[in-house]
Amino acid sequence: MNEHFSDIFTETDCPSQDQLMAYVQDKLEPAERHKVEAHLADCEMCSEAVEGLMAIRQKEQIPGWLRQAKWNVLQQLHRKTHRKRKTDFYLYIAVVSLIVIFLALILFWLFHFFNTGR
Ligand SMILES: [Zn+2]
Repeated sequence: MNEHFSDIFTETDCPSQDQLMAYVQDKLEPAERHKVEAHLADCEMCSEAVEGLMAIRQKEQIPGWLRQAKWNVLQQLHRKTHRKRKTDFYLYIAVVSLIVIFLALILFWLFHFFNTGR
């Protein structure tokens, strides 16, 4: 009976949930990682648990990753529109200055023409 009990014990010698979590998060030492991998190969219960933990991990990761990507895009857009607005402003000033100078030249030319024409 004692032998039978020890048999059951070795059969259910599964890594703890913390160990499986560490395995999923890639935080195990190579030797420990190898042990867990070997165990997962013949323990259906643990490989299912790892799959579940990985799904949870991915679910937790995606929003953060998305948030980061969205933030980067928003920052780039903000920087671009800011820069664009600035160049638009300078372009506006340049165009207005050119129009003013052009109008002044026309007025001067008309004034000069009428003066000499008289
Ligand atoms: Zn197991």
